[in-house]
Amino acid sequence: MPELPEVETVRRQLEPLIRGRRISGFELAPGAERLLRGASAAELRDQLRDRRFERVDRRGKYLGLQLDDGRCCVVHLRMTGALHFRRSDHPEERFTRAVFQLADDHQLRFVDIRKFGTIDVVDQMADALPKLGPEPLSDEFDVAALWDALRGRTIALKAALLDQRSVAGIGNIYADEALFLARLHPEVPAGALRARERIALHAAIQTVLEEGVAHGGASFRDYTDTAGKAGEQQYYVRVFRRTEQPCDECNTPIRRTIVGGRATHWCPRCQHPRQKTRNLPHQSRPRSP
Ligand SMILES: [Zn+2]
Repeated sequence: MPELPEVETVRRQLEPLIRGRRISGFELAPGAERLLRGASAAELRDQLRDRRFERVDRRGKYLGLQLDDGRCCVVHLRMTGALHFRRSDHPEERFTRAVFQLADDHQLRFVDIRKFGTIDVVDQMADALPKLGPEPLSDEFDVAALWDALRGRTIALKAALLDQRSVAGIGNIYADEALFLARLHPEVPAGALRARERIALHAAIQTVLEEGVAHGGASFRDYTDTAGKAGEQQYYVRVFRRTEQPCDECNTPIRRTIVGGRATHWCPRCQHPRQKTRNLPHQSRPRSP
């Protein structure tokens, strides 16, 4: 599932590609009605026709395609969604669910194997969003903001990180990676972190997300960017989906367990509950593809 680094990669690529372009049509594939949350395909076509894209915003895992009438087309990629920017004569991808036809012979295509993604046109982006925690790569996200989200909570730390109301944009990949980097056991109660551990976790969250953005996101399965290309962060992960492979720090085999219903990858030695938090080297090493 695309997480903050994957969605941010799409945002950065998409903005210069669609800015100023006029929308001349909108088509929904048969059976893709559930992508639309508020309106029918015909209503959306009316709302989008002759509008221009002004910029692309992101909040958590949501994209906000700002229109020139002040309204916003909010897109959530969910499990397997992707936005591909193509010339109109480029062969249509399998699983293309919706097409924004642009006036200059280009298309923005919403491709989604599972059909869990959503498209919504609203007055402002916030209207389409659930309650979300702070943006982890923004100035508002400091150690105090992280602790505000975790304090008093007895659920497993990993589960708390996956809760979008704690911190926006973290999913399974970057939660496992951040916990490893901070040397924290995934099942330690979220509200039990000591001051030193909060500082380490805050730094680790920002490090792994920035690294993910720098590598164009992670493509373990379906994620592709606006050109249909895979990201490279999967070659740099420390623990995620490295079950039974040796830990970079201590050679102990990486363990896989289920925490809060999600597969969780961690080092039983580096992330031992009694392990003292200390800063690991922040630079990750690429593995061979
Ligand atoms: Zn280790």
